[in-house]
Amino acid sequence: MSFDSLNLNSELLRAIEACGFTEPSEIQRQAIPVALAGRDLMASAQTGTGKTAAFVLPVLQRLATPARSRGHGPRVLVLTPTRELAGQVEANIRELGRFSRIVSGSVVGGVPYPPQMRLLGKPLDLLVATPGRLMDHMERGRVDFSRLEVLILDEADRMLDMGFVDAVNQIAAATPASRQTLLFSATLEGRILEIARRLLKDPARIALAANTERHASIEQQAHQADDIGHKHKLLTHLLSDQSLSQAVIFTATKRGADKLATKLQDQGHQSAALHGDMNQGKRKRTVEQMRRGKVRVLVATDVAARGLDIRGISHVINFDLPMVAEDYIHRIGRTGRGGATGTAISLIGPDDRRNLAGIERLLGERLPRIVVPGLEPQKP
Ligand code: ADP
Ligand code: MG
Repeated sequence: MSFDSLNLNSELLRAIEACGFTEPSEIQRQAIPVALAGRDLMASAQTGTGKTAAFVLPVLQRLATPARSRGHGPRVLVLTPTRELAGQVEANIRELGRFSRIVSGSVVGGVPYPPQMRLLGKPLDLLVATPGRLMDHMERGRVDFSRLEVLILDEADRMLDMGFVDAVNQIAAATPASRQTLLFSATLEGRILEIARRLLKDPARIALAANTERHASIEQQAHQADDIGHKHKLLTHLLSDQSLSQAVIFTATKRGADKLATKLQDQGHQSAALHGDMNQGKRKRTVEQMRRGKVRVLVATDVAARGLDIRGISHVINFDLPMVAEDYIHRIGRTGRGGATGTAISLIGPDDRRNLAGIERLLGERLPRIVVPGLEPQKP
């Protein structure tokens, strides 16, 4: 099946070709016709399967038709949990909308207000926003939702995890009841279903990810470590692997990320930290350096690395395991992007054992234990 059979306009087909996409992914195949028909939709699919284009393409097609009502506010609103993700959605919109005449912009936290105020004061087709900053603007009466036609919740599961339930509800309540609502999530379970019941009308449901996502293209391994010194030795060994093109290493804390990034730099690695205490400009520059290959090893915390989409990432290394088992799935999804294969390696120290048990319960399988000759654990 090709994109031609999806009834997209010629501007979009040209942009798709320019992006080098030859055929729609499964989620795109299934979601685009539903969204084009104007129906509400809730969809889950593994990370890296093209969910962004699955909502950006039908929305751009709709924006090629005249607005239904007058006003200057956005006709389409995309809510994302983090600034980084908002930036990636915007990049997708720019690429896929390069031949379409649309005005888009974003309203996210951590950057100055005045440019966003100017953006909201002018005619706008498409707005990408994080819930907190958008609420700030709404409370000051700066947002006109009178002509909003489509509301999209991207990574809805993560928005709930990050405590944005009330904000999402309030934002939705400020938009016309006649809107179309599209919800994308890594899973469709628990609180996601509650919010879907509240905000979606008779939605089509497309569930391509089992509730615990399977990552067939990601090889997962665990290395047992006696203590942090042992973890450092294992890490040095892992980073010497020639097949490792770029890696994201996860730590439990922001300080831990800084310390490890500095240590790796001292050892001669092109390494940088990425976490929420860094300002927006610095975070953006770091992600850009990673994308351009100037950084080989990124040391990150969970929230900062959420949604990171860089194809060169061959390895994800959990220096510390996450407390929340679902975060493990989000972490390993940073590799194996766009059909590539990836490796996810977890270092299991004494403090990580309980978290590992939770992760293995969620996965429904035991991670294979790998032993490096010369670096065997004392008490396996
Ligand atoms: P998700 O939101 O499902 O995690 P993304 O939308 O971020 O995934 O897409 C992951 C990667 O796949 C991106 O680099 C994107 O450009 C690429 N991609 C999306 N659709 C296609 C397609 N039809 N063919 C090839 N690559 C695609
Ligand atoms: Mg996504």
